[in-house]
Order: sequence, then structure tokens, then C-alpha cells
Amino acid sequence: QEDVFKKIVSHCKEYGFVFPSSDIYDGLAAVYDYGQNGVELKKNIKEYWWKSMVLLHDNIVGIDSAIFMHPTIWKASGHVDAFNDPLIDNRDSKKRYRADVLIEDQIAKYEEKIDKEVAKAAKRFGDAFDEAKFRATNQRVLDHQAKRDALHERYTQAMQGPDLAELKQIIVDEGIVDPISGTKNWTDVRQFNLMFSTEMGSLSDATNKIYLRPETAQGIFVNYLNVQKTGRMKLPFGIAQIGKAFRNEIVARQFIFRMREFEQMEMQFFVKPGTELEWFKQWKQTRMAWHQALGFGAENYRFHDHEKLAHYANAATDIEFKMPFGFKEVEGIHSRTNFDLSQHEKFSGKNLKYFDPETSESYVPYVIETSIGVDRMFLSVMCHSYQEEELENGEKRVVLRLPAALAPVKCAVMPLVRKEGLPEKAREIVDLLKFHFNTSYDEKDSIGKRYRRQDAVGTPYCVTVDFDTLEDNKVTLRHRDTMEQQRVDISELCSVIEEKVSI
Ligand code: ATP
Repeated sequence: QEDVFKKIVSHCKEYGFVFPSSDIYDGLAAVYDYGQNGVELKKNIKEYWWKSMVLLHDNIVGIDSAIFMHPTIWKASGHVDAFNDPLIDNRDSKKRYRADVLIEDQIAKYEEKIDKEVAKAAKRFGDAFDEAKFRATNQRVLDHQAKRDALHERYTQAMQGPDLAELKQIIVDEGIVDPISGTKNWTDVRQFNLMFSTEMGSLSDATNKIYLRPETAQGIFVNYLNVQKTGRMKLPFGIAQIGKAFRNEIVARQFIFRMREFEQMEMQFFVKPGTELEWFKQWKQTRMAWHQALGFGAENYRFHDHEKLAHYANAATDIEFKMPFGFKEVEGIHSRTNFDLSQHEKFSGKNLKYFDPETSESYVPYVIETSIGVDRMFLSVMCHSYQEEELENGEKRVVLRLPAALAPVKCAVMPLVRKEGLPEKAREIVDLLKFHFNTSYDEKDSIGKRYRRQDAVGTPYCVTVDFDTLEDNKVTLRHRDTMEQQRVDISELCSVIEEKVSI
């Protein structure tokens, strides 16, 4: 699985999807650039989300707020005081780690041990094997389970504050070693704030310190009354936003899964107090349906409901997707109560209450938030679509089975040969299609190679112009997934393709 992931990362680079940032300077850690195909795929993901949120709901509107915001906002939201990661250093390797991640990896190790024992027994006992019975009676499994549960409990307790000394003690007690130096020579755990800061204006004293937003949500909160009043919105209503966010992540792992500069698609849904848990339930279903509509298979998604909640939330869940490195969070859905708006009332001194015309009451709305990372979504799409196939003739092909609506290029038009009027005819067809969807022209190399190239970037349709085309005005339409070919009249081409590729 790890190998597949490495291949996906290099495929992303080779085919113009994702490059390391500042590549000629050997990159910048956990920062990436999107190439010519990546930018199109990313744009389509955003459009797929925007349409489902803003276009399909008449009570959701969009905004685009600035990355720089008044510094007090981050005081009010709790980010200045509490948006921290607990870090620990290994004195021998001089490497820095997140203490919580080290412990979570340790919990995962117990899981692995349990699974290994179960798999071993299944192999030994074959059909007669009963997993439930085995788990109940096998002492080794019971031991691992007990250790895992105890560690999980202790860790969860320690993270409720978090208790830094206790986190260190867990790492020591568990005998966790640094994967690089192999030693247990750990420093104490200390808090590290994830926000990037800079100075605004010409004075560099502390009063000019501002932050790069670590989430887009606060831009929505501080604008909610502007939107509500100017749009004459009635509760319940939502505000959606797509934009960059920045976090000084220390453990930057897994390619674009955890970046320091990334993009979020967030929607805050403002509701009457007391109705929030109903709405939370509904948004959970709506968001899961959105993911599953891509056709990647329901078994690749799951909810991870949070047992321990942040102080401002009264319900929270993650939608996880099965990446090559396990089920991972792609989207968070949180019932944030009226915490953020009440805090902004307190810190700004402004009245942020909504006047309910139906009951003639004024109150601070409750908020359900759906928050998804564009880049994580991109990664999940890539991971699921990347496939290596052996063809009937023994050849191999790499194909990106991207949902047609998300594919960067929808159609590639190719003259069979580069002569006798075929390129001109092919260009005519490109001119016909390019106003409707992203169409490319490709005349280099053999037709087989050109098909492979398009498969590798996930182009759902190839159109080949041959000598018959000049006679009958028909072209060969090749389907990426089945590799089937059909003759289609040029006059029908646009509608045949458009129907399949539009979002
Ligand atoms: P994690 O636990 O993985 O750090 P989080 O719970 O802090 O994520 P949220 O603050 O809920 O994440 O952010 C909402 C979404 O934003 C996440 O589900 C994820 O898709 C995305 N996201 C958060 N941090 C990053 C990052 N560093 N790089 C890329 N995407 C991110």
C-alpha cells in the first residue's frame, strides 16, 4: 500500500498534477504547487462543492473574506491561546515530533498486533476459524487489547487539557523510540501555536502583529450579520466559503494530506438554538451523500464520531476516506453551538443577535459547520482513481479513473496521422468543443501512446480523426474506462460528451 502511495505521488509530479513548491530550490517542506492538470482537477472539485452548496440550496450563499483579519478575532475564537500542538524533541536525532501523534502511532501498533494474531489464526484454522471466539479466548490478543484500551484511556485523559507532563510520561512508560535515532532520549513536551504571524504596516511592534488565518470559518462568523441583513436571510441559512488557510504543522507527512498552506471549503449553517442537533444529523447525511455520489464505493467512507468534544462543540464527527495509508479525515462536521458568535459579541462589543421575525425574539444563532480540505479531497480522488491495469495483449496501462465531471481534460482530439488534412480537421473539432469543456489537441507519437498519455491524466474521451472522417464526417470516440470505441457523427459529438462531463 505504501508503494502504491509512492507511485501516486510520483505520478502527480510526472503528469503535471502536483509539484513540490520551489522545486528548483529542492522544495519547501509541506508546501506544494498544483500543475496544469492539478489546477483543473482542483477547480472542478471546488465547483462540485460550490454547486451542491450554493446553487442547490436557496438558503445558502457564498462569500470571499480576506486572509488577513483583525488580530482580536483570533483571541476571541480561542486560537491565540489554544490552537496548539504538543511537541517533543528527541535529543539524539534532533527531530521534533507531535507527542499526540507518537502516542496515536503506538495505539495503532497494538491494533496491528491484534490484527496479525487474528490473521495468523485464520490462516491456521481455515474455514473452522471463528474470529469472535478466537478474540475472546486467545490470551495474546486479550493482552494487546488491554494495553491498547488502557493506553487509549490514559491518552484521552491527558489530551483533555492537554496535560503535557502526562503526555511525556506516557511516551516514557510505553518505551516509544524515535524512528530515526532509535533512542528514548526525549525532551519535555511543550505547546506550539500553529498560527503563522506577520506584521502589518510599517511599525514592527507587537501591536501590529497579525495572523494568517488558520481556518476560513472566522471570516464567515464576523460577516454573518452583514450577509443576513443585506441578503434578508431568515434562519436557518448558511454561508459558504472556499479559501486558503495556513497552519504551521510540525509533523508534515503524507504529501498533500497535511500542508502548511492549504485550501478549505467551509459552510456555516446558522440555526435556531435547540434545533442544532437535528440539523447536525441532517448535514451528516447530506455531506456523506455528496462524497458517495462520486461513485468510489460506500465501503471506502466512514463516520468517526467524536466522544470527547472541544469545549465549544456539542456534537462532532469526521468523514473519513480510505487512503492507501488507512482511513483518514477528509471532512469535519461540527455543532459549534453559539460559541464563536458569543465570543465575537464579547470581544467586539457589538450586538450579533438575530431578530427572529416569527417569534419577535432576539438571540445568537447556533451553528453547524461542514469543513472539508480541498487538497485532502484531491488526494482521496487521486488515490481512488489511480489504477495499474494489465491489458489483454499483455501490455500495461496506468489509468486515472477520475469521475468524468472532475477530470482536468474532458476530451483529447487526435489526427490519426500528421498529414493529408487530418490535423486541420482535428483542429476544427477542437474549435467546436473548446467552448463547452476543456479539450486538448494531441498529434505527437503513435495513437497507442497518445491514448496511454490521456489515460494517465484521466481524460474520459479521446476523439480520433481518420481518413474516413473526411468522407463521412464521423470520428472514433474512445472511452477511457472500457477502451471501447464507437463511431459518432461530428454534429453529435459535443452533446454526447457534454452530457457525461458536466458537473
Ligand atoms: P487534523 O486532525 O488532520 O489536523 P483537523 O481536525 O485539525 O485535522 P479541521 O480543523 O477540522 O481539521 O479542518 C477541517 C478540514 O481541513 C480537515 O478535515 C482537512 O480536510 C482540512 N485540513 C486541516 N488541516 C489541514 C492541513 N494541514 N493540510 C491540508 N488539509 C487540512
